[in-house]
Amino acid sequence: MHNKTIAEISRDLAAGEYSSVEITQDLLGRIKDKDGDYNSFITVAEEQALAQAKAADELRAAGNAGAWTGVPMAHKDIFCTEGVLTTCGSKMLSNFVSPYNSTVADNFNNAGAVCLGKTNMDEFAMGSSNETSFFGGVKNPWDSDRVPGGSSGGSAAAVAARLVPGATASDTGGSIRQPAALCGITGLKPTYGRVSRYGMIAFASSLDQAGTMTRTAEDSAMMMNVMASFDEKDSTCVQHDIPDYTATLNDSLEGMTVGLPKEYFRDDLSPEMQQQVMNAIKEYENMGAMVKEISLPNTHLAVPVYYVVAPAECSANLSRMDGVRFGYRCEDPKDIHDLYVRSRGEGFGDEVKRRIMIGTYALSAGFYDAYYKKAQQVRRLIKNDFVEAFKDVDMIMSPTSPTPAFKAGEKGDDPVAMYLEDIFTIATNLAGLPGMSVPCGQVGVDGGKNLPVGLQLIGNYFDEARLLNAGHKFQQATDWHLKAPAGI
Ligand code: GLN
Repeated sequence: MHNKTIAEISRDLAAGEYSSVEITQDLLGRIKDKDGDYNSFITVAEEQALAQAKAADELRAAGNAGAWTGVPMAHKDIFCTEGVLTTCGSKMLSNFVSPYNSTVADNFNNAGAVCLGKTNMDEFAMGSSNETSFFGGVKNPWDSDRVPGGSSGGSAAAVAARLVPGATASDTGGSIRQPAALCGITGLKPTYGRVSRYGMIAFASSLDQAGTMTRTAEDSAMMMNVMASFDEKDSTCVQHDIPDYTATLNDSLEGMTVGLPKEYFRDDLSPEMQQQVMNAIKEYENMGAMVKEISLPNTHLAVPVYYVVAPAECSANLSRMDGVRFGYRCEDPKDIHDLYVRSRGEGFGDEVKRRIMIGTYALSAGFYDAYYKKAQQVRRLIKNDFVEAFKDVDMIMSPTSPTPAFKAGEKGDDPVAMYLEDIFTIATNLAGLPGMSVPCGQVGVDGGKNLPVGLQLIGNYFDEARLLNAGHKFQQATDWHLKAPAGI
């Protein structure tokens, strides 16, 4: 049963092939057997999941089932889930049982979904490899010596290893698309403001957006039908028509114009990866798309701008984790100063502390204009590049990440090398645009293993339905999304 997609499970449950309790038990058993190899879950919510499954079966028996009634999924451990441990991958929140639900969790509960548990992640979503989690790194199901990407590496690995058919995730600079690419699955980051951030623990508030990790674009559309909502509790949530994301999956791509930004096809990208991406783009031409080169001239400024804006916002957001209002409290503090210093010093890991220090510096009096304000000004130029580009094209395509999955420990000592992992994804967040990664090929690495490669699709504002349509049509024509890691 673990090979079933969300769409298949939904159809099977409706047809009475098996019950929600049965598939929930099957997947919980599989997590128990296998997750020791991946470490993709921080919490398995067995009791709650079985209760939700039972309630779903009862609802169905009473004739009140919808598409999601009884379908299993998981949440990244950044989403507050009432009564369930919510750690954000940090020692700081290692004993935080949330007293309330995020809107995303509420939406899935209201749809009747079954939450199997909470997935591992980089601490406070800072990272590209999942190595900064207080709960230990996540292993890539394609090669256990390699990272799954980050920060939503737990969600990506759990879906790739067929422990769960879909999981929520969040993307501040690439944390959905990059791990989706490195684990050979489909990841969608919607437009900023499409999905409520209420109860999604804040990293960088102007960039964070919740999205989906699934094997197929069709499943992503099903998740978006639940996740997208207007929410008064998030002041940046946008009131905008919400389509049925599954309704246009099969629309023709005839006449769609695709832009290839020349700055994203760089000389240092390996020729093998470039080849896989170009093959995928050829496939789109076969389906009737017209491809042309475009330019996003300020691309080289995206990573530097992000590493001012994101740390600045995180330094403000994480100030509430002080051992008093929220979070871990040190033992036997001498006085209030000691309590703050030691609680934060012991509760946060190195990468989080590095970012708080950079951000505090960038926001301090005398430096604010030179760093934060300047970064926001350049951010507008980056956004303007996209606005110009979308006057000529319907969609932009590129590689998702510059490398396939890398070895654990390989970039640990070099934060800048790690930061460059998001070189193709970060500009999308700075502009607030939707982006998606679909598996589009494989490259061989040492030891004769094949690792997945992702194609990134960037859409115009609120054009998620078209991205999902393009992803689905590609998956109808190719089988990269069906490939599973060895032994799965
Ligand atoms: N890798 C990027 C960072 O470390 C992006 C993380 C994210 O999208 N949450 O900030």
